[in-house]
Amino acid sequence: MTVDPISQLLALDRAHVWHPYSAMNGEQPVYPVVSAEGVRLKLADGRELIDGMSSWWCAIHGYNHPVMNAALISQLDAMAHVMFGGLTHPPAVKLAKRLVELTPAPLQSVFFSDSGSVAVEVAMKMAIQYWHARGRSGKQHFLALRGGYHGDTFGAMSVCDPVTGMHGLFSEVLAQQFFVDSPSCRFGDPCEHNDIAPLSEQLDTHAGQIAAIILEPVVQGAGGMRFYSADYLRHVRELCDRFDVLLIFDEIATGFGRTGKLFACEHAGVTPDMMCVGKALTGGYLSLAATLTTVQVSETLSGGDPGLFMHGPTFMANPLACAAGLASIDLLVTSPWQERITGIEQTLRAGLEPCREFAWVKDVRVLGAIGVVELAAPVDMQVVQPQFVEAGVWVRPFGKLVYLMPPYIIGQSDLQQLTAAVVEVVSACGQS
Ligand SMILES: *Cc1c(COP(=O)(O)O)cnc(C)c1O
Repeated sequence: MTVDPISQLLALDRAHVWHPYSAMNGEQPVYPVVSAEGVRLKLADGRELIDGMSSWWCAIHGYNHPVMNAALISQLDAMAHVMFGGLTHPPAVKLAKRLVELTPAPLQSVFFSDSGSVAVEVAMKMAIQYWHARGRSGKQHFLALRGGYHGDTFGAMSVCDPVTGMHGLFSEVLAQQFFVDSPSCRFGDPCEHNDIAPLSEQLDTHAGQIAAIILEPVVQGAGGMRFYSADYLRHVRELCDRFDVLLIFDEIATGFGRTGKLFACEHAGVTPDMMCVGKALTGGYLSLAATLTTVQVSETLSGGDPGLFMHGPTFMANPLACAAGLASIDLLVTSPWQERITGIEQTLRAGLEPCREFAWVKDVRVLGAIGVVELAAPVDMQVVQPQFVEAGVWVRPFGKLVYLMPPYIIGQSDLQQLTAAVVEVVSACGQS
């Protein structure tokens, strides 16, 4: 008896493989992908799905891009990896220079790591070491926004939303941090005194313990897909300066054009002391992230006790990943990315608008190449996931949020098919 290879693959997957945020009970179906090209994922049964997720903010140029492929093959011929302790190499140095050029001017020092979560850990450790170097060792806590998401490792988790970050479950090991509600002032609106008061009160009381404020500028991603006023960031910057607290921007989701600016902080014209980037950094090819800091931070840290930054991942500045980063950034900045984002924004707005009619939809919002339909109740993934696949699209809602963030290269008709599928699936959500 022969078992077909796909059934075999799925049986082994069910038996042995964890997937993100899932249980090992075989109840959540997964779809086998065999290849991907442009904005299309090809399933093992031959079906093709239009990708609405960019593989979680990453695949901004789509899949199997010839320029990206060529850059990686060429780097592979030189070397795949070499340790970064005591050695350096062109892809890392060139990418660091590129990141310094693209990000706000005061950010000059780059620490490479393997994932966004680790880039956040690095920023947090740097902030603590910075204050230690300045003789302020009491500043070991962080202030974060509710509804935020900064990653899945313990340090990053401690600054995630306390509820969705499951602080209760991990209360014995999670560092205690300070939180304020995420701002209610909407994107495009100014910030009122009420929006900023909770933050200034917390700082007024606890600044002596707070090393840094960490937040996702303008768009809170996995913690709720909320957009808020850029004006808020200007107030945050002022407060940080007034209370001697560093400012960390987590641009891991928002970086590289997604919100319509290369980095979301440009909406506010505000420069942080540290910035984390990841996700789209390599155009979705390899896992790479970076923490950038000002010279003030890097020099103070390096000049104090112990005089070294205490972190160094094994695969730090992996040459293949850095080569992918360089190629991806070149592709992005030489493309008409702003026009593309504006075009995507318009199509998302028009295409998702019909969802507003449904009584079970709480909000429809679009910013740059991010389109969000927020329902009043969580969607049933067992029901909606197959519906999206049937409709020929790859959309992966979470909780109450059905959202699209397609690759920047997506064409009009593919994008319209994505929004039509969202409208269709969301319309059926109210009928159960
Ligand atoms: C995804 C994400 C992270 C974590 O990045 P990983 O690469 O998954 O560790 C951190 N912050 C934000 C804003 C993110 O969207």
